[in-house]
Amino acid sequence: MNCPVCNGKMKRKKEQYAYNDIVFGRFDADVCTKCREVFFTEKSSDAIDAKAKEIGVWGLERETKISYSGNSLIIRIPKAIASFMGLKKGRGVSVHPEGKTKLVMELAN
Ligand SMILES: [Zn+2]
Repeated sequence: MNCPVCNGKMKRKKEQYAYNDIVFGRFDADVCTKCREVFFTEKSSDAIDAKAKEIGVWGLERETKISYSGNSLIIRIPKAIASFMGLKKGRGVSVHPEGKTKLVMELAN
């Protein structure tokens, strides 16, 4: 099989999988020797899904919308995510854009 992204040669390796800074472990993946794109095997994907369910981070992605509060724009954080992260009103956060399509929010110390 060649890389679906760049058609480069693929090599089977153990690659680390992490979600939200939680390292799940290393899993078999086909890695492109040219563009470094990682494709986890079907068996690895199943193991990753099982691990996500086991540690309670399965399906935490939610849609939310930007709204107004006074003159500011606000983003509502879905309850499942707030509960998982232990977020409370008044918690300090820092936000910065990564390009034009990604907004990164990090909890302040
Ligand atoms: Zn590639």
